[in-house]
Amino acid sequence: MSTKDFLEKDYYKTLGVAKTAKPAEIKAAYRKLARKYHPDANKGNASAEERFKEISEAYSVLSDEKRRKEYDEARSLFGGGFRVPTGSRPGGGGFNFDLGDIFGGTGDAGGGLGDLFGGVFNRGSRGTAQNRPRRGADVETETTLTFGDAIDGTTVALRLTGEGPCPTCHGTGAKAGTVPRVCPVCDGTGQSSRNLGSFGISEPCKECRGRGLVVDDPCPACSGSGRAMSSRTIQARIPAGVADGQRIKIAGKGAPGERGGPAGDLYVRVHVKPHPVFGRSGDNLTVTVPVTFAELALGAEVKVPSHRGAPVTVRIPPGTPNGRTFRVQGKGVRRKDGTTGSLLVTVEVMVPQNLNGKARSAIENLREATAGQDPREELLERAKEA
Ligand SMILES: [Zn+2]
Ligand SMILES: [Zn+2]
Repeated sequence: MSTKDFLEKDYYKTLGVAKTAKPAEIKAAYRKLARKYHPDANKGNASAEERFKEISEAYSVLSDEKRRKEYDEARSLFGGGFRVPTGSRPGGGGFNFDLGDIFGGTGDAGGGLGDLFGGVFNRGSRGTAQNRPRRGADVETETTLTFGDAIDGTTVALRLTGEGPCPTCHGTGAKAGTVPRVCPVCDGTGQSSRNLGSFGISEPCKECRGRGLVVDDPCPACSGSGRAMSSRTIQARIPAGVADGQRIKIAGKGAPGERGGPAGDLYVRVHVKPHPVFGRSGDNLTVTVPVTFAELALGAEVKVPSHRGAPVTVRIPPGTPNGRTFRVQGKGVRRKDGTTGSLLVTVEVMVPQNLNGKARSAIENLREATAGQDPREELLERAKEA
């Protein structure tokens, strides 16, 4: 039942009880009438069925203490028994308007009436906020990039699911071949104000329910709301140099706005797959390069891989300690300002697992030649310091 039922229907009369009737009296009256008009006892009797429904409705309200109170309040405030036109335009005066709007739309009697006063006084500001152009929501999604695409930048296809314009009516809410028209009651503002005795009411326009547009033939897909859950695929440009875990903002690609408001933004959380060879350290790329003891001891020029380019030559000076890092300028990650980070090359001695006879005897000769040098001598000395 709708809230206007409260004002049009006299439930006490339907059950044949006084307004002051006690719950037990109401229950007894209901039982007696329900037995009499029950459809099982009146097969094929349409008017009995109708009467049975009225009795049930009346009892459902009057048997519930809270709803009975709301019903009594509504009728004492506005008086019972007048007809409430539904969806009509306001006339010259009097009560020629849809009370359903004041009571919270077409909501059932369970809500609304208890909030009658709050609703009347708050509705104005709430209505204004509802009616303003509203920016679409921000949307967040994720994507996983290869290491190389993260460094060089790429375009990815992102599939987004969310509420958007109804694809059938393109968000107008109007059936194909028709268009919504500007609401003639509020001239498209979505607001209406009037004085109702001591109440000054500003509320969403009842004709268009605050939208400012009226749809004569609603779109069957969205029932006229113009909104639908949908998924869309967008092409998003991921700039060069993004790092794992970074959030990229793509302006204007979030949820569409309402009533002419701008779209929200899309945030893309980027995950970057690790590379088998290269690592990242800010704008620098890192690589660890195996070298021999001889290369570090005697010096060498070694070829090291660069990302998506020809190998670069790194000169290792004689006597280079294991683990030293060399910087190769310009072979890192491109920055926003157009400059580029470095490739950081760390050398790591590779100890041979198997030595052939010649190499073995050469190393044995080395051991012999350096027998007088104890590499731990200094360590042992310094360990004695306090
Ligand atoms: Zn639609
Ligand atoms: Zn309107």
